Amino acid sequence: MGTETLTSDSQQKTAVKPRTYTCPGCAANLLFEPQDGTLTCPYCGRKETIPESAEEVKERSYADYLHPRSDQLKVLSATALEVKCDSCGAVVTFNPPEVAGECSFCGIKIVAQPKSADPLVAPEALLPFAISSRQSTDSVRKWLASLWFAPNVLKKLAYHESIDGVYLPFWTYDAHTTSHYTGERGEHYYETETYTETDAQGNTVTKTRQVQRTRWYSASGTVSRWMDDVLVPATISVSRPRLTSLEPWDLDSLKPYDPAFLSGFKAQRYQVELPDGFEEAKQIMAPIIQQDVREDIGGDEQRIDDISTSYSAVTFKHLLLPVYIGAYRFREKVYQVMVNARTGEVQGDRPYSFWKIFFFVMFLIAVIGVLIYFAKSR
Ligand SMILES: [Zn+2]
Ligand SMILES: [Zn+2]
Repeated sequence: MGTETLTSDSQQKTAVKPRTYTCPGCAANLLFEPQDGTLTCPYCGRKETIPESAEEVKERSYADYLHPRSDQLKVLSATALEVKCDSCGAVVTFNPPEVAGECSFCGIKIVAQPKSADPLVAPEALLPFAISSRQSTDSVRKWLASLWFAPNVLKKLAYHESIDGVYLPFWTYDAHTTSHYTGERGEHYYETETYTETDAQGNTVTKTRQVQRTRWYSASGTVSRWMDDVLVPATISVSRPRLTSLEPWDLDSLKPYDPAFLSGFKAQRYQVELPDGFEEAKQIMAPIIQQDVREDIGGDEQRIDDISTSYSAVTFKHLLLPVYIGAYRFREKVYQVMVNARTGEVQGDRPYSFWKIFFFVMFLIAVIGVLIYFAKSR
């Protein structure tokens, strides 16, 4: 590839000649190096910097992409292959010489033949891997060591081979919301109430006390707000609670998408389509709007009868966020362990080993038995 510079134009057109990031020294494939953000030759150590893109990360018009035309769809990189897991349906994209191997999400060996990647609504931006594969393995080892009664199969995960660097797909949405509401405003007032009590001598005494009451007034109005970067996962291969537990993501550090960032990693194709993602974004916006409505109603208490919201100037971005993920099966169930590849934070499912708990309980019973024996024989 010689004098060709590394630019991001391969995402612009599918027709550009395939670009592989090869080492000018030894022709090996360059891999993205999380430590310094360069493309590095794993054999001779030669480094190429990925040029800073002059382009800003753009928002795209939601309306324009609702029914994307073929010219609006791109491939992740000109050489990208993709393969679908027959077991869980996840589609991952990767660049040769990387291979499909085992499914990152369910741990099943992928037998399907990879094919050229289908075009998609291309990512605008990503967060590059900042944690190396070795660091992530260390984090997983520490996490494993902290688990009680974990089956030994978990320890196998600590091997480098079973943890993959994968970019997960996300959507973010911006929108201007205008919400008409009807409801009621509650205002507190106090009434003096008379009540009787029996005192210590058995006499009935009459007393008074202040009681809080609420008077309700009907209320209606309009609130509006700009929603910015509402983040929605576009994957269903990882549970929502697990994805939430990986937050926060430093979205201020997003880089314009460049296929060079994918070298040595996989990327999952989005499973949640753009309009479905927006419906989920509305659910995330709803409590924020409700809070605005409560403040607008004012008073001491609020009742909301109805909110109807219209969304305008809707824009979106498709983002890729980096994780290391390992999936393994234990007694017919899939467990995932995941590392946020920006922070190194580990989140995982874990099984309990029946036998380890069984023997621990037997051990405790034995200890108690011995203690009782000595206590009696004293
Ligand atoms: Zn080299
Ligand atoms: Zn799978």
